[in-house]
Amino acid sequence: MFHPQFNLTWRNEDRPFPPAATALPPAVLDRLCFDMPSRYVAAEMGDVAKAKVRWVETKRWRAEHGINSLLATPYPKFSRVRELCGHVFHGHSRDGHFVYIERPGKLNIKTIKAAGVSDEALQMHYLHNCEYQWSVLDNRLEAVCVTVLDLEGIGMRDMIGGSAMSFVKSVSKLLQAHYPVRSAKIVVINVPSWFNMIWKVVKPLLHERTIKKTMICNGADAAKTLLEIIAPDQLPAQYGGTCRCAGPRGCFGGHKLETDYEQFVAEVNTRGGAAGSAF
Ligand SMILES: [Zn+2]
Repeated sequence: MFHPQFNLTWRNEDRPFPPAATALPPAVLDRLCFDMPSRYVAAEMGDVAKAKVRWVETKRWRAEHGINSLLATPYPKFSRVRELCGHVFHGHSRDGHFVYIERPGKLNIKTIKAAGVSDEALQMHYLHNCEYQWSVLDNRLEAVCVTVLDLEGIGMRDMIGGSAMSFVKSVSKLLQAHYPVRSAKIVVINVPSWFNMIWKVVKPLLHERTIKKTMICNGADAAKTLLEIIAPDQLPAQYGGTCRCAGPRGCFGGHKLETDYEQFVAEVNTRGGAAGSAF
């Protein structure tokens, strides 16, 4: 017999969400996991029981923080914040996954704060980005993407104790918990000379699966590695491809995947919607 609170309608965010997954009877847990993506089982190394707990915790988290309605929430500062974050979508890999370029060296926390964006709102921006990736760009439950992690402009101080890095860490923790196994490949480029020292420390802490997917490129290797994964016309000229997107932002904001995203948010802003924007 299910308590009404445990039935599937709890996903409706007006209703209370269930208690911690570990406190649920196995039959209830099973029922809540009818739609669990197999990524969760992979993330837990084949341990289905652990995967179910994790999936229900993700559902709880989504309900608690209004993640299911994030994309329908007006977000007037979107374009400005996105520009200051330095991350963009750009084209597709040879395997058909979309390509996401993350440039932590461009993340301008000071200017973002000066624009009146709180840490929480900035975190929501990253989640908005994730929701758009996995609900609009590619909404298949098991979809993955290629991430280009461009470390240009990043200093050792940023990496060790800077505010940008502590923010990136807190967001990464959320993304790893609730969007697991979403990377086909992570290509790290413009690696500073001291990075290898840090990588030696970080590597043993990472999952073997993540290490296998991560390619650290030095100098000229970057273009060669990127071109093996991404066709030249899909890769910015700055990275060794032939793409030169039109407009002032070029490939870093001018690609159709980006302008479509901007258009998407502009339409939500025009329509209005849920009061009490998360941003
Ligand atoms: Zn381009």
